[in-house]
Amino acid sequence: MKQGKKAGAKKGTWTNGKPPFPYYYDKNTRSVLVDETKRPIYRAIVEKYLNGTNLGHIAIWLTDNKIPTPYNIKPDEKNKGWSNITVQRLLASEIHLGYITYGKTRSKRGKVELVPEKERIKVMGTHEKLKTPEEHEVIMERLLKNRMLNPNSRRNIFPLSGLLYCQKCGSRMRFRVGENKKQGQHWSALCYHQYKDGSKCEQRGKVMDADFFNALYDRIIHVDPNILQEIELYGSRYNDTQVIIEVKEQELKKQKRALDKLHESYEEDMITKQVFLERKAVRSRQIQKLEEELKNLRKVVVDEGNYPTAEQIYERIGEFRELWSSSVTSEEKNRALKKLVERIVYNREGNRVELTVCYR
Ligand SMILES: [Zn+2]
Repeated sequence: MKQGKKAGAKKGTWTNGKPPFPYYYDKNTRSVLVDETKRPIYRAIVEKYLNGTNLGHIAIWLTDNKIPTPYNIKPDEKNKGWSNITVQRLLASEIHLGYITYGKTRSKRGKVELVPEKERIKVMGTHEKLKTPEEHEVIMERLLKNRMLNPNSRRNIFPLSGLLYCQKCGSRMRFRVGENKKQGQHWSALCYHQYKDGSKCEQRGKVMDADFFNALYDRIIHVDPNILQEIELYGSRYNDTQVIIEVKEQELKKQKRALDKLHESYEEDMITKQVFLERKAVRSRQIQKLEEELKNLRKVVVDEGNYPTAEQIYERIGEFRELWSSSVTSEEKNRALKKLVERIVYNREGNRVELTVCYR
């Protein structure tokens, strides 16, 4: 980072060039100000999105109302109007929260690369804030959810590929793209399973619409209390097993020491051969029994230890959210999901769809 920018970063002043819509840079005061003609438009974008209008409809509304796009169009280029991406960038920007971020890019061996978010410098600027942290949080949550939608893949990979299982028969479900006037291009989940007697699985998949994906995203992010309880149970079982192992190990040591003593007693002629053999047989049986028990317990503890703890799941959810927010293609989304989720069990009863998320 250049020296001037570094100094700017400390003071929270603007050094980043043209600020985003609806701000402008005032050369005289060297500060970032709000363009009063654009302020109500920016707020309308935020409020429309918070009220459920999607990115596409906001872009159309802006274009229809002849609001100039925030970037400069080259003279020979035709202005196509606002795009979903432009609206999305504007909504997600932290500048409107009051922050200024320095060092988004750096050059390494002559190549410009993006600096990871954690390594950037983010400071509170001196410019006016145009959205609240609460609004920002709701916006980001919705933008993340919407990433599930858009079957934008050329190959037939879907974010849920290989992850969705039918609750009625246990088979992996498949996806089908459909197109109609009412819903446009859309995906449905279907179970094609056929039982040995020729009858078909009764699962009737439903169109996977925005509601479906919103519900799924919520299900993934907010761990079901029943699952948490189960995880805790496994955790305590794991601890119990370890305690039992320790007790059995102590017991085994004791038995082995007693056997050594028995040998000594016999060698020192303190007991007869008859007594020695009888006692030795008893001790040996007990040692053998304990060793077998320990072998089995260690197997159990490995199984129980493979079960994730609640902490691990929360950590993975955090990682998932980060990965998810940076994934664009269906393949990337699929990869992000597979890092966290083992399978998602699908069941439809009437119009209700039940989803159960099984974590890795
Ligand atoms: Zn099925």
